[in-house]
Amino acid sequence: MNLPSRHLLAIEGLHPPQIANLLDLAESYVLLNRSGKTQRDLLRGRTLINLFFEDSTRTRTSFELAGKRLGADVINMSVSSSSVNKGETLLDTAGTLNAMQCDLLVVRHDQSGAPLLLAQKVDAAVINAGDGLHEHPTQALLDALTIRRRRGRLQGLTVAICGDILHSRVARSNIHLLTTMGSRVRVVGPPTLIPAEAARLGVEVFHTMDEGLAGADIVMMLRLQKERMNGGLVPSAREYFRFFGLDAARLAKAAPDALVMHPGPMNRGVEIDSAVADDPARSLIREQVEMGVAVRMAVLDTLSRRARRNV
Ligand code: ASP
Repeated sequence: MNLPSRHLLAIEGLHPPQIANLLDLAESYVLLNRSGKTQRDLLRGRTLINLFFEDSTRTRTSFELAGKRLGADVINMSVSSSSVNKGETLLDTAGTLNAMQCDLLVVRHDQSGAPLLLAQKVDAAVINAGDGLHEHPTQALLDALTIRRRRGRLQGLTVAICGDILHSRVARSNIHLLTTMGSRVRVVGPPTLIPAEAARLGVEVFHTMDEGLAGADIVMMLRLQKERMNGGLVPSAREYFRFFGLDAARLAKAAPDALVMHPGPMNRGVEIDSAVADDPARSLIREQVEMGVAVRMAVLDTLSRRARRNV
């Protein structure tokens, strides 16, 4: 498979066949994982380092699991107990990791562009596990796989991404992926949480849930990213839920068989009501987590094959 680079830093710039190939490979890993079989030879002798400068539950553990299922040696570097706390720069950390002959480096950072900077300095293949407000490419791939498995396609579906679009790298990666694959994307939220360049990204913008959800096939809810907000962009949590929260009554505005997604972590009662989040007939939230492992296996597999060819 021809990816544009030996790293995976963003969805922007990937072409439909490249995305489709990654999803097809991930699909084969879903089946392998469900069958209980393993493929531990693929990354035997390879080292994967998880370097997370920001909190994570799902992404870090699923990269760890994905690496182990393919036979890699996986190291989780906890930044809170590393020399970064002693003032070491990102590039010095990169130099240290390079000296350890790491093959795959999974990076999460609160600064947009940090994985790109590392990719220019390390020999390893770098995978962006979320950088600031920029991108979270494996999240968009796992979301796409989840949708494709349920709906059989991405093309022609109407996907409403709702909430804090401004601070969401998940929204940005999903917008790139879904528009590239022919979905119709809407973003829904208060004007303070919609980026000025939204329309340029090829999406429709709505400021009320009733309009934005009308007839949507997929409703993707996002967390209010308070850690990235300076000052009051939203009223109280209760007020926010009243206007932009998803409950059963609001979901009824979407298509009758609309499915609900959320990348996690969820803030129940703020952007989503528990009755909707936990409804097995409508919610894909658990399935998204399962797809996360398969997608990350596909990404590690693809990038390591490429690295092997370059040796
Ligand atoms: N887990 C996602 C991210 O890291 C979404 C979120 O934090 O709300 O971007």
